[in-house]
Amino acid sequence: MLNSKEVEKIKQLLSVKKKIVITTHHNPDGDAMGSSLGLYQYLKQKKQQVTVVTPNVWPSFLDWMPGADHCISADQHLKKASRLIQEAEIIFCLDYNSTKRTNDLSEVIQAAPGFKIMIDHHIQPESFADIIYSDITASSTCEMIYEFIQMLDNQVNISSDCADCLYSGIMTDTGSFKYNSTTSKTHQVAADLINQGARNSFIHQKIFDTNTYERMRLLGFCLSEKLTLLNDYHTAFIALTAQELESFHHRKGDTEGIVNYALSIGEVNFSAIFIERDNEIKISFRSKGSFDVNTFARQHFSGGGHKNAAGGKGADNMDETIMKFIQILPQYKQALSVNE
Ligand code: 5GP
Ligand code: MN
Repeated sequence: MLNSKEVEKIKQLLSVKKKIVITTHHNPDGDAMGSSLGLYQYLKQKKQQVTVVTPNVWPSFLDWMPGADHCISADQHLKKASRLIQEAEIIFCLDYNSTKRTNDLSEVIQAAPGFKIMIDHHIQPESFADIIYSDITASSTCEMIYEFIQMLDNQVNISSDCADCLYSGIMTDTGSFKYNSTTSKTHQVAADLINQGARNSFIHQKIFDTNTYERMRLLGFCLSEKLTLLNDYHTAFIALTAQELESFHHRKGDTEGIVNYALSIGEVNFSAIFIERDNEIKISFRSKGSFDVNTFARQHFSGGGHKNAAGGKGADNMDETIMKFIQILPQYKQALSVNE
């Protein structure tokens, strides 16, 4: 929770019209876009001058989100994005704990004179913001935005567009209310959002039931040809080269969630997907139970995230990355065999 002094400071800042920019992390996911656009809708209702700036473009299954068509993606409009951040009086930093997570925008955000407010649920937030609202027990940044609005207004009275955005991020970051970050409060907030007009079934369809034929074929290929099971370590992984992605006419977001299929095998406690993209190896890690993939990603793959879902970057090429991964596993043999 923010303390009362911080809440008063934010209320005072928002009491007159300000130039506000909302930023989020590179490769924005449902929670990044949901929290940014949810807050955008709320601040628009309060007659603020507000823009959402993303480091790069979001996957197309989020295009329907109310306000997405007004977002500025820095990979397409770097000059405009940088100018907006430099000129902003308030900069919100949502769903990230380190400016490094904004890639090309990192230096601009750090150097910008605006008042910075971080709202985030990742472990070990860095102290670059003027006010830090961090809650690592929160299911999602969207759940925190709902609470943030509650702190400012006492009674939450938001538009159905805002409710749609916040519901989306809670739904995606909890794996549809499945992960152990899902609490009774998460369900209460979700219920409140439905009462405020969030279209829960419509959102589910827009996000999960809009696969392309090519994406389904890529998933089939991953599961039948690329899935490696390391029984001794209760581990499964998938590695995809740029060429393989190309052969399935890969589009942004197509690989999202594939790592969860590997984890869904009964005896698997740890899964990874290695993806060769933009001349680097992007990794996603997932785990069940006590195995901490945030620490694993931080220690070995310059990454981080949460206990059961984290990401990182690989070594120079795919072969080296996989070799490194396999060589590390023996030191975790004991931890990987526990499934509670
Ligand atoms: P995903 O595997 O879906 O990309 O990310 C899972 C979680 O780990 C997300 O919460 C994401 O923010 C975090 N994450 C992904 N990649 C990185 C990374 O390179 N560094 C850090 N610190 N966190 C990451
Ligand atoms: Mn999140």
